[in-house]
Amino acid sequence: MQAAKGGTRIMHTNPTRLLSKISRRNLSGLRINSDRLWETLHETCKWGAAHRYGKGPTETGMARLTLTDEDAHVRRWLAAEVTKLGCSLSIDQMGNMFARQSGKLKSSAPMIAMGSHLDTQPRGGRYDGILGVMAALEVLRTMKENGFQTIHDIGLVNWTNEEGARFPRSMCSSGVWAGVIPIESAWNLHDIHDSSTTLRSELEKHGFLGSMACSSNAANGTLLGAHFELHIEQGPILQDSNRSIGVVKGAQGYRWLTFRVLGRDAHTGTTPLSARQDPLLAASRMIISSHEIAKRYDALASTGVLKLPSNASTNTVASEVTFTLDIRHPQDSVVQFVQEECLKSFSAIASQDGRGVAFDWTLDTDSPAVQFDKNCISSIEAAADALVGPDKRMSMTSGAGHDSVYTNKHCPTAMIFVPCRDGVSHNPTEYCSPEDWYVFLAMYG
Ligand SMILES: [Zn+2]
Repeated sequence: MQAAKGGTRIMHTNPTRLLSKISRRNLSGLRINSDRLWETLHETCKWGAAHRYGKGPTETGMARLTLTDEDAHVRRWLAAEVTKLGCSLSIDQMGNMFARQSGKLKSSAPMIAMGSHLDTQPRGGRYDGILGVMAALEVLRTMKENGFQTIHDIGLVNWTNEEGARFPRSMCSSGVWAGVIPIESAWNLHDIHDSSTTLRSELEKHGFLGSMACSSNAANGTLLGAHFELHIEQGPILQDSNRSIGVVKGAQGYRWLTFRVLGRDAHTGTTPLSARQDPLLAASRMIISSHEIAKRYDALASTGVLKLPSNASTNTVASEVTFTLDIRHPQDSVVQFVQEECLKSFSAIASQDGRGVAFDWTLDTDSPAVQFDKNCISSIEAAADALVGPDKRMSMTSGAGHDSVYTNKHCPTAMIFVPCRDGVSHNPTEYCSPEDWYVFLAMYG
């Protein structure tokens, strides 16, 4: 494994601006202990290991859903580890964990955070989120054993319920922190398999319902000076282009729509094609059309849910079909174009076969594109250039949502992607080679 090198000591109160000046010449030379990072990550995966796919000790996936006993174990372990390092630990009302290492100035200025999440999907892997938190811990350990103290405070964040797999709201607690999700609605989320259990009742049960407000407001919550998140790419682009580091410029915008296509029940043996109002045929054409339109705009369009009436039968034309459409692109204007083109095309399709169908639609989610902070991005670029060279890094846009999307609303934020085997994620066989762990020590001096 090639381990990390450090940043530079910079005397200034605006760390992100000056971080962009990091160069090969002034890297501090600190290196993480890659073996320790590997061992720690896999050791802690004993809490939640599941779905064995090979004989090797690390060849399992993970099922560490948020605020389960397994998640509580790894949280208590993390709390003990950061306390050992001399960090102060605070936990907010959503169970977000903030470990803070004091800098030389002993300043009350917001800390520079390295954050991600320890919870996983029910059939998740060992790296999504986990690598980011463990890498942050390794950075803090490296600093401690080298007697390296930053000028400003630096620390680690473990965000609660990023996955939204057990309590169905993804990026849940960074969303509350950012003021986007009301805390009451987050607290009242029910376990998808047990309606008597809420997110709040599990926070209480495991002792992670902190007293501090879950807020980016410095007066009663936790304002951050910056947020850096190391994460596996969860896609194949880095591997396919033989790059080691993805410098994430932002996250693409997306819209989720639900379409309801209305036709008429009819006997399949006695109703000629010309006399039908077939919503499933129309919906199928609409889905194909959305795919073609997305291709034309270099965007993404996907249907993940297609619903027929529960009493549908083989020899009856269905009466009604519902399907979802998820449109994504780094530019909001393109998301809008694709939506408009789809609506035009769907209208044409609706009158195309037999006697036509009717359709209506709702916009369920509109998540605008996110641009990360320019100075944070250039600091990562500079560190990547020094570490692997410009040929081995590439600019990317995140296809998925991450806690960083929400932190970006209140503090300078950027992300570092590392490759994962075949782009596989949310899957037990998710794998990130140790050779591809380049962890940046962003030293703020
Ligand atoms: Zn993640």
